[in-house]
Amino acid sequence: MRSVTCFCVALLLNAFAGMAQWQVVNCRRLVDGKGGVIEQATIVVRDNVIHAVGKSGEVTVPKGAVVHDLNQFTVLPGLIDAHTHLSYAWDHMPGTTPWESLERIMSNPMVLFYSTRNAARTLESGVTCVRDLGSYEKLDTDLKQLILRGEVAGPRMFIAGNGLHVSFDPYLPINFRDFGKADGVEEVIRATRQQIMTGVDWIKMYGSTGSGNDVSGHQTYTLEEMQAACSIAHQHGLRIAIHAYGGEAARMAVQAGANSLEHAVDLDDATLAEMVRKGVYYVPTVDHNRYYADHAAVYGYSKQEVIQLKEFILRNVETLRRAHEAGVKIVMGSDAVFTGFGENARELEWFIEAGMTTQEAIRSATSMGAELLGRGADLGNIAPGYLADIIAVEGNPLEDIQALTRRVRWVMKDGRVFVDKRTKLR
Ligand SMILES: [Zn+2]
Repeated sequence: MRSVTCFCVALLLNAFAGMAQWQVVNCRRLVDGKGGVIEQATIVVRDNVIHAVGKSGEVTVPKGAVVHDLNQFTVLPGLIDAHTHLSYAWDHMPGTTPWESLERIMSNPMVLFYSTRNAARTLESGVTCVRDLGSYEKLDTDLKQLILRGEVAGPRMFIAGNGLHVSFDPYLPINFRDFGKADGVEEVIRATRQQIMTGVDWIKMYGSTGSGNDVSGHQTYTLEEMQAACSIAHQHGLRIAIHAYGGEAARMAVQAGANSLEHAVDLDDATLAEMVRKGVYYVPTVDHNRYYADHAAVYGYSKQEVIQLKEFILRNVETLRRAHEAGVKIVMGSDAVFTGFGENARELEWFIEAGMTTQEAIRSATSMGAELLGRGADLGNIAPGYLADIIAVEGNPLEDIQALTRRVRWVMKDGRVFVDKRTKLR
């Protein structure tokens, strides 16, 4: 008898598993990832995929579907943050600063625990997908797996393992000297292959100094070393992001074959033209220096360092403005670390300041980010066939970008609702 019951339950479960789960999102306004706008829209989601989109009343709504009433909100695709370090985590211990925590003060399980908080805050800010460009040890792999399995709330992660770096960069935390360290073409080839072997989605290379309070931007790798990393990455079907604070390192990175250029200022006209021609993405990461300046006491930065950070921001915004005018593909990346998660999308406010329209800024954080990841067909848009990464914001981001950068109220990732703060309106 008992076994019969079990058999029936098994049959029922199988039947349930085979049934599609339908959800319906009704919203005041839909802004998709490609510039399209629908007032009073309905989105139908089947399991974790968008099934239909249209004007409310013109879309067939399946019987028994779960309905999400977002009629007071603007709905957009989940955001893509193309530059994070989710495993740079800090436990707020008195007497310590965030960067010190990378120097083995915490055990790996502790770092992973605090990383899960970074992941949750990122998701809460409307970011449903990140390209994580540099891990503490190899914890990006663990965090990615925990999120994939649904054990941890966080964005889907595209990981880069440990960034390749030269041995003499004094600004790199001590811990990082053991991973990704490579000098000379031969070592760069070996280190790139090792990263690929561990299952990374991207290769990351530090082509210049510059990080935290250091805005020096001196070139570290030679053109030949950069070319070696690019060619091994491409040979294995992977893309490569090169970190370059200064103009000279950036010029080399573009020449070497980087797919995306991180941070850079002072890009010359010839380099901008080459980026357009080769389709190299620019991820300017302006806002993280604003964040450091605002939280200088926490990070232990001096008044002089704050002045330098602010000077760098001006050069960064000017370079962004010129890159945008030149037609370079620009993608949102926060470079969030430690305490900066949750303000990921603030980067878009600088994009507006640099001359982008609100729709261009939205595209840079949705469809353009998806294209950078090679996932333009199923991420970064709200249309049939795309994964159901959908967010709702209070207000109209087409008129005021802060609706998107500061007032995210609801987040669905992969067809599952993770954030619901709609009650705040009442
Ligand atoms: Zn970074």
